[in-house]
Amino acid sequence: MERSAQLLQQAKETIQDGLEKAGLYAYRFLEPEKEEASETIRSIVVVLFPYYTGPAQGNLSLYCRGRDYHLVVPQVLEPICREVSLLLQDPHVRAYADTGPLKDRYLVLRAGLGRIGRNQMMINNRYGSYFFAAYMTLSTPLEPDPPVVYANGISCLDCGACVKACPGQAMLPDGAFRPERCRSGITQKSGALEPWEKEILLKGDTIFGCDVCQLVCPLNRDAEQTPLQTFRENRIESLYPEDLEGLSRREFMKKYEDRAFNWKGPAVLRRNLSLMSERQEESNGDREKIPVRSAAAGETPLQASGSGLHQP
Ligand code: SF4
Ligand code: SF4
Repeated sequence: MERSAQLLQQAKETIQDGLEKAGLYAYRFLEPEKEEASETIRSIVVVLFPYYTGPAQGNLSLYCRGRDYHLVVPQVLEPICREVSLLLQDPHVRAYADTGPLKDRYLVLRAGLGRIGRNQMMINNRYGSYFFAAYMTLSTPLEPDPPVVYANGISCLDCGACVKACPGQAMLPDGAFRPERCRSGITQKSGALEPWEKEILLKGDTIFGCDVCQLVCPLNRDAEQTPLQTFRENRIESLYPEDLEGLSRREFMKKYEDRAFNWKGPAVLRRNLSLMSERQEESNGDREKIPVRSAAAGETPLQASGSGLHQP
């Protein structure tokens, strides 16, 4: 269907207004590349959802302490999609987070919204690597933003801080990445762990994820905090054995239905807590049972050295 230039401009402004009202300023309009384009995808809007809320102790990865971004992204983008769909009479306006048909990392790079870190994370100038990538697609061709030229290449500073700090030595000096040695993946691996995997797991304190390479990255030092209130509310910084006690998988999924860690179920988290408890007992040299929830405000049983994102 032919649309007037004025209507197309109005659609762009509707998207921009909707995103900016939500506090989202890191977005760009892209024209799909040949392999991405289809009858239903003739323009793309890439949007970053920052989630950082400042330093905080805890035993969960920073990205999953707030509400699940798989729920937050549609809450923000779907009303915009509906409005634009009506305006353009375009039935193919869609929003995606994580599970869409396009490669979101590549979109972020192409949109000029992130460089590639040695730690495999995408890193944005304002939000560091603390963001989720999402995008909208339309079957209407909207005017794309001008192509991005990266002044200093598409890589990070290559300072090596993440390489040195990585508990799994997942990053090799030649730039290769060994995903099987990434502690984040190991914390989420089901079943029994190999001795070398346990060793890596016990080099950190998070029971889901590992943010070490993000925490040491100089490009995250001044990362802006999220403008999205939903990531600040009802946070769960840590999980304790008593939080999981007696829960079936179904009950766990229900209890934590709005958390990004819920899909793994309770068994993996119990295993990790138990391994860390054993480690602490060994290092204490006594049989005192730990960890237990502390009554003191802000005190956590396991101090996070990070959490992780090779989720994301
Ligand atoms: S998440 Fe942890 S284990 Fe994985 S690469 Fe980063 S520092 Fe290494
Ligand atoms: S710590 Fe240094 S090498 Fe690692 S991702 Fe950050 S800038 Fe790149």
